[in-house]
Amino acid sequence: KQPHQRELFGQPIGLYILFLTEMWERFSYYGMRALLVLYMTTATIGDERGAGLGWTNSEALALYGWYTMLVYVMSIPGGMIADKLIGQKKAVLLGAIILCIGHGVLVLTDIWAFYTGLGLVILGVGLLKPNISTMVGGLYKEGDIRRDKGFSIFYIGINLGSLLATMIVGLVVKEWGWHAGFGLAGIVMLLGLINYIYGQKYLAQVGNFVPAKKDDPNEISYGKLYAKLFKSPTQLIFALILLAASIWGWYTLEWGYGLLFIFLTAVVVLLMMIYKELDSQVFKDRFMVLLLSFIMVIVFWGAFEQAGGLMNLYTETNTDRMLFGWEIPTVMFQSLNAGFIIIFATVVASFWAKRKLKGKEASSLFKMALGIIIMGFGFLFMVFAAMEFENSGASSMIWLVLAYLFHTIGELCLSPVALSFITKLTPVKYASLMMGVYFAATGLGSKVAGIVGEAASDFGEYTIFLGILIFTVIVGTLFILILKPLKRLTHGAEDNERMMH
Ligand code: GLN
Repeated sequence: KQPHQRELFGQPIGLYILFLTEMWERFSYYGMRALLVLYMTTATIGDERGAGLGWTNSEALALYGWYTMLVYVMSIPGGMIADKLIGQKKAVLLGAIILCIGHGVLVLTDIWAFYTGLGLVILGVGLLKPNISTMVGGLYKEGDIRRDKGFSIFYIGINLGSLLATMIVGLVVKEWGWHAGFGLAGIVMLLGLINYIYGQKYLAQVGNFVPAKKDDPNEISYGKLYAKLFKSPTQLIFALILLAASIWGWYTLEWGYGLLFIFLTAVVVLLMMIYKELDSQVFKDRFMVLLLSFIMVIVFWGAFEQAGGLMNLYTETNTDRMLFGWEIPTVMFQSLNAGFIIIFATVVASFWAKRKLKGKEASSLFKMALGIIIMGFGFLFMVFAAMEFENSGASSMIWLVLAYLFHTIGELCLSPVALSFITKLTPVKYASLMMGVYFAATGLGSKVAGIVGEAASDFGEYTIFLGILIFTVIVGTLFILILKPLKRLTHGAEDNERMMH
């Protein structure tokens, strides 16, 4: 047997190496994410956890929004670097090393160290996150039925990391201060790195760099793709309009938005040119379906990511957190999502598997649309919470538990499925890039979530939660209505999965 085909519990051993690497990476990411806003808003003197930065809430939330967005948007260059220069396996290695350094720098208390550390974490995650996910896909041959299950297992690793972090990091900070918390993230990332290096022998067949042969039709040349724009007047005009709009955005909004729009223009133009390049209608149609499914991804994360923002603040200020005479710390509510994932990931996966055995196989698109609707219904409980708060001045925490439960079931229908779907629908040569575009879409969702969350100060939580509920249910339902034609456009990408060893 080839090395990567050695199995444990019916899955390639390489999956568990990637599982552990991602688990420690997510520990460091979520541990740090849980501290970030608190650290920024803590006063510079007089706090037992050590000096914070003394920023206002809105300053902190603004930086936090940009940070969580950039972390995922950098997946696009991260994916490209893997494709063009070093392969996914080395990109993950490099990302892990940069992350160790980034978290290490955050141990220092200077403000330059804060920005440098964040910058390095953005680069590190950008290199690691999309490429490790593509490598999971690469463990399976086309049509291998174990792929979806593999992604579900991988997703448990992600959330195990997040769960451990949200339980432990807060305690460490309470005991030893902010920078010990940042340092812990660094140590844990080092564990991830060591595990990854040790596990290389199980990853021999996956994520390797295949250097471009001259004029290889399977090779993407980004330069050539952009150059072709100048041969096609309609597309050039479209690209110029986008660019002009971006520059207008630069001058009328913050400069950060201007940069973001220009970056998005570059991505949209690239996707347009890739579409033109695809050599068969089948691939073109699949590409279109994938891009349409990214609309669901943006809407989903735009609502879901309220968790770290508006719902977090709501937990802090509007929720009665007393349980048997003990006040549950706000941060602990952030572990509900990860905890529920771990409990329900296999339940949801086997639910779909059982339906498949009965011949009632659900398509990825259906699961994603259903995921949005279920997640959206989670906001019904937040609407109830807001009503209770308005009537009695505090809302019960049961609403939060129910909301996070629905959010999690929705996430399980959408997120691991989407990862797997990308690796099924994209020709191999574009796989890493599209994984990057997917994560960038989740990053845009995070930014949308921040903007929607901020609007709560004008409209009130009740209206915002109700608005999210209605909007997400409508979007999910629309996708279910157009499911048939969409599925037709996938040209049976999911029809012939079978056991392959
Ligand atoms: N919670 C998941 C993770 O950290 C998904 C995040 C995302 O796709 N934006 O991997």
